[in-house]
Amino acid sequence: MTFVYPDAIVSTAGHVDHGKTQTTYALSGVWVMKHSEEIKKAMTIKLGYTQIGVYDCGDEYYYSDGVLNAGKCPNGQEPKLVRRLSLLDVPGHEVLVATMVSGAAVVDGALLVVDASQPAPQPQTAEHFAVLDIIGVRHMVVAQNKIDLVSKEKALENYEQIRKFLAGTWAEKAKIIPISALHKVNIDALVTHLAKEIPKREAELGKPARFSVLRSFNVNPPGTPPEKLRGGVLGGTLLQGVLRVGDEIELRPGLKIDKPKPGYQPIYTKVLSIEYSGYKVDEARPGGLVGIMTGLDPALTKADALAGAVVGKPGTLPPVWTAVEVDVKPIPRAAGEKPEPFKQNEVVLLAVGPATVFGVVQAAKKDVITVALKKAVCADQGSKVVVIRQIKNRWIVTNYGTLKG
Ligand code: GDP
Ligand code: MG
Repeated sequence: MTFVYPDAIVSTAGHVDHGKTQTTYALSGVWVMKHSEEIKKAMTIKLGYTQIGVYDCGDEYYYSDGVLNAGKCPNGQEPKLVRRLSLLDVPGHEVLVATMVSGAAVVDGALLVVDASQPAPQPQTAEHFAVLDIIGVRHMVVAQNKIDLVSKEKALENYEQIRKFLAGTWAEKAKIIPISALHKVNIDALVTHLAKEIPKREAELGKPARFSVLRSFNVNPPGTPPEKLRGGVLGGTLLQGVLRVGDEIELRPGLKIDKPKPGYQPIYTKVLSIEYSGYKVDEARPGGLVGIMTGLDPALTKADALAGAVVGKPGTLPPVWTAVEVDVKPIPRAAGEKPEPFKQNEVVLLAVGPATVFGVVQAAKKDVITVALKKAVCADQGSKVVVIRQIKNRWIVTNYGTLKG
């Protein structure tokens, strides 16, 4: 059987407690790992990814792993796997916003989850929608969730509020599917519309490989004898191109060195094996989370040590930066007061591609800041940068912009 690759990344969106995680579970049948809520602790953004299979059962609907009954269609037929989607369910509003904007994962579409028992839109619903707009997402399905909690009249009222909120935007015609994620009601309709609405990411297969390292692991149990050691594993997502078993790869920023002068040295290694949640394949493609076993010493990859790095064929990677100039625009926020201007020596967090690093503001003009980074990042000039500031002891995503130099 040929492997069906996950072919698109769908980000959940919506106000806290509206049911993003519950809906992800209803679709996938798998609970997304719970990570730390706090960006500061999360240094590198931890992506909550699940994969859902989309199946044809020979009727008008599609079904997903969470909907099939012990792997069987509701009509008893053998399900036919049509495609796989990667669902991104990041805990915490700020982390979700940072992940979406920084381009750590290129988002192909959104699943906006709205609680039918509350007036719409709630503040974070509006903020997420604004962010989707900024990053250019143009495919969305709305799950009108918790339908079990409301009367028909309330549900219709809430539906009209969502329609009004989306009126005049690119999502004006987005499908709004009433569901109960908790009771798994109408999830088949949700899968069907997601599978139809979210386009497959195909166009980028011809570009040079660019892989975002989001996690890195040592998969050897303690005490493994040296001859049995397995190489360091990189977990992440291909932004473009393909990587194959046997490919020579370069990893940047790489290793921090002091001599001959302080800086970073790229790491060169080889792809030894490729795995999509348990499936071994010969080729990694954009659209999903993939694990790449390399020839690296596993000591180098343990405990996310290489998270935030970028991988590609040798000589194709963008430059490494230890200081960046960023032109900054405010992220539209539905609630809260206007943040103060940036101050010299202010400590900020920057999310650039897969990397989230602390930095110190060296200079701040009205729309441009220069930041000295505590850890280098590898990124193209013009890459999106997200600025996260500490406001009243909370880390808030305040600005976004591009890396100018
Ligand atoms: P998130 O913050 O958007 O990820 O929200 P969660 O998925 O964690 O859900 C928040 C709470 O709402 C949890 O207690 C869920 O059990 C509950 N919940 C989610 N979906 C439904 C639903 O369809 N009906 C009801 N009654 N409760 C739900
Ligand atoms: Mg959640």
